[in-house]
Amino acid sequence: MKAAPYYAEHENFIDAVSKLCERELAPHLSSWEKAEHFPNDVFTTLGSQGYLGLLISEEHGGSGGDYKLAGAWCEVFGELASVGLTVAVNMHSLVISHALERFGTPAAKSAWLPKAVAGEAIGAYAFTEPGAGSDLARIRTVATRRGDRWVINGSKTFITNGARADFILVLTKTDPKAGYGGFTTFVVDTKSKGFKVSKKLHKLGWHASDTAELVFEDVEVDDSCILGKLGEGWAQAASNLNWERLMLTLTSLAGARQCLESSITYAGQREAFGKKIESFPVIQRYISEMRRKILLGESLAHRALDVLCAGGDCRTLVAMAKRMLCDDAVWIADKAIQVHGGYGYTTEFLPERWWRDLRLMPIGGGTSEIMANIIIKELSK
Ligand SMILES: Cc1cc2nc3c(=O)[nH]c(=O)nc-3n(C[C@H](O)[C@H](O)[C@H](O)COP(=O)(O)OP(=O)(O)OC[C@H]3O[C@@H](n4cnc5c(N)ncnc54)[C@H](O)[C@@H]3O)c2cc1C
Repeated sequence: MKAAPYYAEHENFIDAVSKLCERELAPHLSSWEKAEHFPNDVFTTLGSQGYLGLLISEEHGGSGGDYKLAGAWCEVFGELASVGLTVAVNMHSLVISHALERFGTPAAKSAWLPKAVAGEAIGAYAFTEPGAGSDLARIRTVATRRGDRWVINGSKTFITNGARADFILVLTKTDPKAGYGGFTTFVVDTKSKGFKVSKKLHKLGWHASDTAELVFEDVEVDDSCILGKLGEGWAQAASNLNWERLMLTLTSLAGARQCLESSITYAGQREAFGKKIESFPVIQRYISEMRRKILLGESLAHRALDVLCAGGDCRTLVAMAKRMLCDDAVWIADKAIQVHGGYGYTTEFLPERWWRDLRLMPIGGGTSEIMANIIIKELSK
């Protein structure tokens, strides 16, 4: 990505990330996608260069920076044609480590943050359960007090990095009668007795990323593993979600731009009926629609990011941006396949991977329907 005017102050950063991706990651993506796994070296490589420490203070080994710098990262790192990999990394560094720094006890922070920033310990976020996704308040994982310990029982599903994680932020109910004040998140070491990865899930896309089902059977933790304070789990989850959703939105934007670019290139090379296909009005229309959707989505996403950076209430703006860009990115990837014709349907060209990968974005982190509900609720006030 060439630094857009919006990120002008981060031009050197964008350039450095772009070169690193091109040199160290892009050449391996196809084989990692095929193997349905990318090595943990990706984390240590990025960690050794300070890229897993964005949003983390120097005190905890991070490189600092604000949401705008992290946004620039999402847009350039998101150009890699393996959305599973980019989101697995971003969940670890920009969402999980960030939440740990914001809310964790000093003991949990010093136990995990320096290793997380170095890429030597990998994190996961376990909210969703087999019976509770959008309706998260219905989770059934409980943590009960036994002496001076907490005992966690329950199961989680669809967890990114779940099979490779060293630590997991687990949302539980500690007081089922206390409503939203009865949720608590624990930082669980995956070496704990009673923790098990019960299944690795096979998916339409995100092949290089592991998505797992997890079981917690009498997993014991102490008070130092509570993220923040008892009963704060729901409020913490809500306050993290705006940024997580924006991260997914900016990643979709990056993917949509890649689809546009490859469509323009292909349409300028492919010939039919003695002409370049770019000369056909219907192909021009697809490409101009792609561009229009990207420009609109980009301005909405950047506006939401500005409000987030300024500490304002960006929930509805984020919901609008996520709904628009995540849906449009799938449309754009679909049209990119169309512009590439039969080749677009083969694994020799990237649009099919973009389409499979971007298809998750209107589902993960809050579905498009949930985003629509947030927008409607705000309008009805
Ligand atoms: C590859 C992958 C990675 C993921 N990573 C993680 C992770 O790391 N951690 C984690 O905790 N979760 C993760 N998730 C889970 C993801 O966040 C959920 O799948 C998502 O929140 C939707 O929940 P659900 O699948 O239970 O769908 P459901 O909630 O069952 O929804 C089914 C359908 O009903 C619609 N619906 C539900 N409620 C309403 C309503 N009120 N109004 C209108 N429509 C509604 C939905 O929009 C959807 O279309 C991941 C999922 C996948 C597939």
